[in-house]
Amino acid sequence: MTTHHVPAGLPTSIQHYIDGRFVDSVDGGTFDVLDPVSNENYVKAAAGQKADVDLAVAAATRAFKEGPWPRMKPRDRARILNKVADAVEAQDAHLAEFETFDTGLPITQALGQAQRAAENFRFFADLVVAQADDTYKVPGAQVNYVNRKPIGVAGLITPWNTPFMLESWKLAPALASGCTVVLKPAEFTPLSASLWASIFEEAGLPQGAFNLVNGLGEEAGDALVKHPDVPLISFTGESRTGQIIFGNAAPMLKGLSMELGGKSPAVVFADADLDAAIDSTLFGVFSLNGERCTAGSRILVERSIYDEFVERYAARAANIVVGDPHDPATEVGALVHPEHFEKVMSYVEIGKSEGRLVAGGGRPEGLPTGNYVSPTVFVDVAPDARIFQEEIFGPVVAITPFDTDEEALELANGVRYGLAAYIWTNDLKRAHSFSQNVEAGMVWLNSHNVRDLRTPFGGVKASGLGHEGGYLSIDFYTDSQAVHITLGAVHTPRFGAA
Ligand code: NAD
Repeated sequence: MTTHHVPAGLPTSIQHYIDGRFVDSVDGGTFDVLDPVSNENYVKAAAGQKADVDLAVAAATRAFKEGPWPRMKPRDRARILNKVADAVEAQDAHLAEFETFDTGLPITQALGQAQRAAENFRFFADLVVAQADDTYKVPGAQVNYVNRKPIGVAGLITPWNTPFMLESWKLAPALASGCTVVLKPAEFTPLSASLWASIFEEAGLPQGAFNLVNGLGEEAGDALVKHPDVPLISFTGESRTGQIIFGNAAPMLKGLSMELGGKSPAVVFADADLDAAIDSTLFGVFSLNGERCTAGSRILVERSIYDEFVERYAARAANIVVGDPHDPATEVGALVHPEHFEKVMSYVEIGKSEGRLVAGGGRPEGLPTGNYVSPTVFVDVAPDARIFQEEIFGPVVAITPFDTDEEALELANGVRYGLAAYIWTNDLKRAHSFSQNVEAGMVWLNSHNVRDLRTPFGGVKASGLGHEGGYLSIDFYTDSQAVHITLGAVHTPRFGAA
């Protein structure tokens, strides 16, 4: 049985933060927030509607048009962003405790995510200080230079998996670029987002530069997407939601960055380091409870090592420690919400008729309540199976054999998604040719997802639109205005002079 650890200092309500003040919704509406171990409502959060979004966008617009933030020197902005990083780092254990309580993520992994959030702020602070923009010389005729300008109010809409870290992934580059922001965090997990307000305030971020509106996607999120004074939307979430947002933003031709779903392949060739591949492909799908966009949730294994791989993989999966998210020994915690738990469990049932179950397959023994799912492994899964094609977003993996490189590539590419791919081989030519041909925004060779913040991040096909990461994030939040300067005489065709 798990104990139910409740962190000290939980808020009694979760409010919006607009123009430097914590406020309730204009209409007083709230929604219930559950913790995933007891599934009880532990707090009510303000349910933002159009009226609340209007107030937040008005504050962010004032801060953008009249406030100091967009006009500050990069070094001065960076000083504040580094203070944000310091504050996040200083309370990483507290943050992790809140995040674990609200999301069900294992505490050791939540701690890693808190530290990554601090690093995002430090990284983008460094980047804008070091940034140089291009100048183009046309000898004797012209000099052209790029005048980079923050675009305006950025609408940031985030999902419930690793919420604090994913919010930092948008907040840091948006603010570093000089934009002001309205953040709409996911309704399943609003707890850690409520900590941003005091972190920013204490770091010295000017009033109105950061605004937070809680609420449901179809209400608060929708109002943010449709607001005419929000020229940019950075969205992370499901592909289906991305399609709706794309449609709603189209009439205003907004700038969109979309980080969407995934069904990423891990491809293990017979010449791979099998021990390393097993460790990494287990971690790749079962870390973060499997609630991970870049999860390697389809493992394709060359037939000559298939039986050995399956046997060893299943034994390890069956041995994974599932339990109280707050316990440092826990490797897989509780899924975020009963609705999501039901969805994942329904795929476990579907899988039983689509593949051969070799580990897990339901609720773990000894955990009769809470959103716990045993790490579940289906093997011999055909490529048209739903568990091969659809994103499950939980601790469930499908394993499929292949015979040739061509077949492996066809299987890897045979889904609508294209976020990540993990390739395991020691053959140099195969490694590069396979990587370059696989339809994925990001490829890892002989590793799971270990990412340098300077590299592009994003997906292709149904996994996203546009790439963020490094200077690509700065490009999204800024306009590269071209200024053309004439140096010599202007040779203009003299219309009307004849
Ligand atoms: P979701 O699409 O249900 O919700 C994401 C956010 O969008 C939430 O804040 C929600 O309130 C909001 N939203 C919902 N409907 C909206 C609407 N009509 N208008 C505006 N906003 C709306 O996603 P989720 O279930 O919270 O997150 C899981 C999904 O996110 C998975 O598909 C996962 O792969 C994806 N994800 C992708 C990445 C990536 O970088 N590619 C990272 C993390 C998660």
